Amino acid sequence: MNSHRVVVRKGKSIRASVAEIFGILGPADLRGKNVFVKPNMLRPARPEEHVVTNPRLLAETVEYLITDGAEVMVGDNPVPGRGYNYENEIAEYCGYLEAAGKEWRNIGRYSAKIKKPKNLLKEYYVSREVIDCDILVSLPKFRCHDLMTMSLSVKNHFGIVPGGYKPYIHALFPKIRDFGEVLVEIYETRPSDIIIVDCLDVVDAHGQVHHPGIVIGGDNGYAVDYVCALMAGIDPFRVPTTKVGRDRGLFDPQRVEIDGELPTIRGFSMPFVFPFRNRIVEFVAQILYRIWLARVPVIDHALCTRCLSCKNVCPPRAIKGHYIDYDKCIECYCCLEVCPKKAITIRFRLF
Ligand code: SF4
Ligand code: SF4
Repeated sequence: MNSHRVVVRKGKSIRASVAEIFGILGPADLRGKNVFVKPNMLRPARPEEHVVTNPRLLAETVEYLITDGAEVMVGDNPVPGRGYNYENEIAEYCGYLEAAGKEWRNIGRYSAKIKKPKNLLKEYYVSREVIDCDILVSLPKFRCHDLMTMSLSVKNHFGIVPGGYKPYIHALFPKIRDFGEVLVEIYETRPSDIIIVDCLDVVDAHGQVHHPGIVIGGDNGYAVDYVCALMAGIDPFRVPTTKVGRDRGLFDPQRVEIDGELPTIRGFSMPFVFPFRNRIVEFVAQILYRIWLARVPVIDHALCTRCLSCKNVCPPRAIKGHYIDYDKCIECYCCLEVCPKKAITIRFRLF
């Protein structure tokens, strides 16, 4: 179990706060280390919408790491849209291509298979870059989430799963508690070494923007999420992943030590709670994810040159020569990412 120290910094420049957090928690020597930085690139969103990690925090973190001699890679797997090069389009829209510069990578192309027979999710895939790095830096955005109450450090890790595979996992585990367990299992595949939560400007469940102007750092995702929930003014165990983390002994709330002054955001509205809310949310989510699962990749044989790139990257080996075995396909859309001829499209499968 890593430390329970959670560092809250406000009022300094972002660069100074980042440097201080690394100075307190980070590895002493970053020279020559492969560092992977993961912002929260949920969807195409401008920084002023406050739903994705602020690109200024990303830029300052990347610059700090490079200055200290690290080899840096930056990337995330958003939920896919139209397909080809979509990650880069979203990254550009969010301001991440500029913030990360040449360190930006499309990480939806190659994945590693993880087998955990004792888990709820017994087999899954995560982007190779995350598994292969020496140091993993997570930059979550502090925000509300209808299903998980809040999206913070542990939820940010869902983005290490390639694109369309995420809705697939959602559909397999529609119950909130089960999905919380699965998020913790994915987080534990490769926990973050350093987390810096973007709480600079945050938006609540009613769309109201608040300006705490702080960043919250730590090296234990559950402890960091616990402190973030305190700042939102809610019971930290309303966040299912924090509850699962405590129940599995992955952190001890009694040991959490806050370094710095933690404000409470006055009037921060959370998703509305009413009788049977969770069951209704679970039911609606299940329908939406089932609809999503009807989207399948289809090969256009007039364009295909049989280069086999798609077959080679397909995690469950679902591409067999000329056709795709939809019983095996996990809808990650890695094949779209690599096809040089744009011969694979996403279509709705009606039966
Ligand atoms: S065919 Fe393979 S690579 Fe393409 S979406 Fe399905 S599982 Fe992913
Ligand atoms: S990557 Fe594209 S061109 Fe190559 S075999 Fe697959 S569908 Fe055909």
